[in-house]
Amino acid sequence: MSTDTPQVSPAPWRANWRRRILWSSLAGLVVALLVTLVWLAGLYEAGQVQRRLERDAADAVGDIRARLTRNLQSLQALQFGDPKPARWTGEANGLLRERRELLRIEWRDSQQQILAQAGTPYRPPVFDRLGRDSVQSEVTQVCNVARRLSGPAYSTSYFVPMTDGLGVEVMEVCLPLASAGVVMGYLVATYSLQDLLDDLARQLTRSQELSFTEGDGTRLAMRGSAQRTNHVFTAQHLLDLPGTTLVLRIDSWSGAPELFPNVLTALVMTMSVALVSILLLLGKDMRRRLKAENDLADALAFRKAMEDSLVTGLRARDLQGRITYVNPAFCQMVGFSAEELMGQSMHAPYWPPEFVDEYRKRQEIRLAGNVPPREGYESVFMHKNGTRFPVLIIEAPLINAHGVQTGWMSAFLDMREQRRIEELSRASQERLQATARLAMVGEMASLLSHELNQPLAAIASYATGTLNLLSQGAHTAADVELAMRRIAEQAERAGKVIKSVHDFVRRRDQAREAIEPKVLIDAILPLINLQAHKLRVEVQVHLAPDLPKVLGDRTMVEQVLLNLARNGMQAMDRPEIRRRVLRLAVRRAPTDTRWLEFSVTDGGPGIAPEVAQQLFTPFFTTKAEGMGLGLSLCRTVIEQHGGTLAFEPHAPQGMVFSFTLPVGQAPVP
Ligand code: ADP
Repeated sequence: MSTDTPQVSPAPWRANWRRRILWSSLAGLVVALLVTLVWLAGLYEAGQVQRRLERDAADAVGDIRARLTRNLQSLQALQFGDPKPARWTGEANGLLRERRELLRIEWRDSQQQILAQAGTPYRPPVFDRLGRDSVQSEVTQVCNVARRLSGPAYSTSYFVPMTDGLGVEVMEVCLPLASAGVVMGYLVATYSLQDLLDDLARQLTRSQELSFTEGDGTRLAMRGSAQRTNHVFTAQHLLDLPGTTLVLRIDSWSGAPELFPNVLTALVMTMSVALVSILLLLGKDMRRRLKAENDLADALAFRKAMEDSLVTGLRARDLQGRITYVNPAFCQMVGFSAEELMGQSMHAPYWPPEFVDEYRKRQEIRLAGNVPPREGYESVFMHKNGTRFPVLIIEAPLINAHGVQTGWMSAFLDMREQRRIEELSRASQERLQATARLAMVGEMASLLSHELNQPLAAIASYATGTLNLLSQGAHTAADVELAMRRIAEQAERAGKVIKSVHDFVRRRDQAREAIEPKVLIDAILPLINLQAHKLRVEVQVHLAPDLPKVLGDRTMVEQVLLNLARNGMQAMDRPEIRRRVLRLAVRRAPTDTRWLEFSVTDGGPGIAPEVAQQLFTPFFTTKAEGMGLGLSLCRTVIEQHGGTLAFEPHAPQGMVFSFTLPVGQAPVP
């Protein structure tokens, strides 16, 4: 949510390092585990091989023991029957042929003198080189032991060099021949230790070596290949014989477990490879997830920054009307925190109490599924501090990714600033109107003073004329009455001028009427003539035939004609101008017959360009007693009637001022 304090993420380099350390620890552990597994598997295999070897050694010792026992039995059998030397020798030879390990058999008397003897047919006579006597002591010793034991006894082995240059390790066995408890003689047999191993060696594998050794490991006799590698498995087993003890030893090379052919190791290796692959895949997946997480974090950060920087308040509600989301701008607008607003539904704290009922109804209508106006609607909210403020609410259904409506989303615009601007502009408008009214008063005052000049001047001159007539005494009652009527007319005119000016200033156009041009001209002609007479100006009037009526404010149009005529006459009031003609003309406008054109032509000096530029500027005048309002008023009046006022030089001299007025009937009141 918007007000959740953002989780302070550790510095990226620290997170990186932690991740790296974790990964290397995991990789180290996995490698250690795998090495241990392989090592244990190897150890187990080695143990198996060792145990097998031990078993083989024990079996071999058993075999040898059985063989020796059988041999003893065979030797004993030699004495049964008829123990004559010749016959004995024959049987002994048969035995020797049968048992290769027996090198020699001797029959000795109780003094251990040889009675008969037989040698193995497979070798040269054993003692040829050494001489049998040289080992007599061994024989004596073993036979003594045998006598003492009253049973067979074996001598320690010894080496006998032979005539073929080789030698043989031999062992004597002495079997006392007793009859009724008295030793009658001995059977002494000589074993070749190496041949004793022969039978067993046939069961050996190529990489095994079988040997008899002494206690210190010295080999006495051996069989089998003589490979030497580092992985040698050795098993030793004692062969206890009466009188001596031999050590049987088996060495094995190929028995050392090979790493890969071994099933267990292979299994472990496969598992290791699988484990490492899974680790790699996990790593890859982790990297992908990390990247996705980073992207997501970036997107979230962007969204949050965007929401935080929005000045528009945002609020989401679920379908039950509960607030599910507000952005910081909204919180700021209403002065409540997101926690205070979350979950609120039928009575939001920012609803002014006086509007609660109305808002509740509105919300019910909304929850019933009615879509609010797209352009939004205005409402009033209450800040936490109690101040009310106008808001513009734009609401729209909240549609989720599956296209299902899950609530409503609303945007809020604080209208206070807009209201303030509107208020300001209204106030300034009012001020402007007040100023305009003031200006209007001023305008009216100057206009009145300008326009009243003429009737007042006329009244003054009629009054003066009357007084002159009276003082001269040459008057008739009719003359005085005429003068007095003229004065009354001008006074009435002055009144009309005041009304017209008042109406004009207030921009009223009720006074429009359809007037015949001739009537207009006739109405002002006496006044023009009054001044023309004074300034010796000839006034000419030209009215085109069949002129229609024009629509206008009679008094104001008369004022315009009077102003233009007066300006023209004043322009000709120069001594150098002899021919002073003022021409008033009315005709249809040449460009558009729906308009009539009124023109006032003088024979004055014309207007200089620099003067022409400022002609319609109020208060611009070239006359000592002028007010500079005449032309600007004329133009305003004509433009109010929809017409135009123009001027141009008149050949050979003078100016033409002309204006247009619309042809028409009086509007129905
Ligand atoms: P005022 O007559 O009080 O000076 P106007 O606005 O009627 O004010 O005229 C302004 C000026 O225009 C006059 O002062 C005069 O110089 C010039 N003017 C007006 N009409 C004519 C004309 N027919 N011939 C020459 N100059 C004129």
